[in-house]
Amino acid sequence: MISVDEYRATVTELLDSAVVAELPLADCAGLVLAEDVHAGVSLPPFDNSAMDGYAVRSVDVTDAAPERPVELPVAEDIPAGRMDIPVLLPGTAHRIMTGAPMPPGADSVVMVERTDGGTSRVRISEASTPGAHVRRTGEDVVRGTIALAEGSVLGPAQLGLAAAVGLDRLPVRVPPRVLVVSTGTELVTPPGELRHGQIFESNSVMLAAALRSLGCRVEIVRSVADDVAEFRAAVEPKLAEADLMVTSGGVSAGAYEVVKDALTGAGVTFAKVAVQPGGPQGCGRWHDTPVVTLPGNPVSVLVSFEAFLRPALLTVLGHRDVDRRRVPARLTESMRSPAGKRQFRRGFYWHEDGQVTGIVGPRGGPGSHLLAAFTQANCLIVLDEDTTSVDKGDEVGVLLL
Ligand code: AMP
Ligand code: MG
Repeated sequence: MISVDEYRATVTELLDSAVVAELPLADCAGLVLAEDVHAGVSLPPFDNSAMDGYAVRSVDVTDAAPERPVELPVAEDIPAGRMDIPVLLPGTAHRIMTGAPMPPGADSVVMVERTDGGTSRVRISEASTPGAHVRRTGEDVVRGTIALAEGSVLGPAQLGLAAAVGLDRLPVRVPPRVLVVSTGTELVTPPGELRHGQIFESNSVMLAAALRSLGCRVEIVRSVADDVAEFRAAVEPKLAEADLMVTSGGVSAGAYEVVKDALTGAGVTFAKVAVQPGGPQGCGRWHDTPVVTLPGNPVSVLVSFEAFLRPALLTVLGHRDVDRRRVPARLTESMRSPAGKRQFRRGFYWHEDGQVTGIVGPRGGPGSHLLAAFTQANCLIVLDEDTTSVDKGDEVGVLLL
C-alpha cells in the first residue's frame, strides 16, 4: 500500500506545470500571478483632496474656531475630474470635491462639515494644518515599483489594484482543462426515472464543482457504461483537448472494473493507497494526457479530491499555500479507525465562547456512500495511520473545508 503523502506527491508530479498566459482581469480571480507587475502610474497619481470641502492655505485659517469663524471668498470650484487647476491665491478658498486635484498654493483641505458650505464666500470654523485631508502622490504605490508580486493570489483587492494602475490583463498560470468521466452501467443522468438497480449520477457534478472552484475548465462525459469499448469510444476522442482526465468508478477489485480494464497496460498504474475512504486509486498518462482515476463512491471521490487532486492542482497553479487549514479540536464522541490507514471522517467543527480549542462532532459514519452527511460537514477529521481508536474528549486534527 502507498501512503497518502507518497500518493499525493505522485499525483502532483504527474500533472504538467500550468502554462502562463495574459488573461483579462475578469478571468483572473483566484489565480496566481506568474510575474511581478510594475506600476505604470503612482497611486494616487496626483495630490488630491480626501474630503469634500475647501482647499486653503492653512496660515489663512489658523485662528478659525466655531465661535470665531474665518470668512474667505470662494474663488473656484474644483469637482473631481477637472483638469485645469487654478492656483489658490492667498486669502481665498477653492471649493473642492473628494478626488479632485489640489490647487497649487493650497496646502490643506477643510471638510465641508466644518464650514457653512458657502459657494461665493465660505465661513470656516476650524483651523487647518499643512497636509490635512490631502492624499499625496504615490502614498499608496510609487510608479515603477512592484505593484503585485509574482505568486500573489488574485483576489478582489489584487485585481482592483491591477486596474487602478491601468492594466486590463495579467500574466497568470492558466488552470488545466479537465475531462471528467463517470463510469457505471447503473448510472442515470438526472432528471428522469430510476428503474430498480439504477442510481442517479452525481460524481461528475461534485468533481466539476470542485475543479471549477480552482479555476479549471471542465468537460464532462457522464454515465459511461462498464464496457471497455464504450468507454474508449466515449473518452478517447476528447483526450487531446484535455490537460487532465479524472474518472470515477471502475477501479476496485471486482469484475467489470471498466477504467482498470481499459487503462491497465496503457500507461496508468493502479494501486491501493493507505486511506479510508478512497483506497483504490490509479494514475498515469494515457495518450500523453495525465489521468487520475478515482473510486466510485461519492464520499471517496470528494475525499480523494481533497487529499490528492486539490493540493496537486494548487501546486501546479503556483499556489504556495496548498493545504487546508489544520486545527486541533476535541471530539464529541469516540471513533475507530483502521490500523495502517489514514482516515478522513466528515465532521462539524465549532468553537464555544472563550475556548481556544474547538470542538468537532462526526457527521455520518465511515461509510463512503453517506453523501448527505457530508453536506452537514465543514471539516474533515484526520485519524492518522497509527491511530485505531479515539475517545470522546480526545484532541484530533481537523482540516477546515
Ligand atoms: P465503483 O467504484 O464503480 O465500484 O462504484 C462504487 C460505488 O459508487 C457504487 O455503489 C456505484 O454505484 C457508486 N457510483 C459510482 N459512480 C457513481 C457516480 N458517478 N455517481 C454516483 N454514484 C456512483
Ligand atoms: Mg462501477
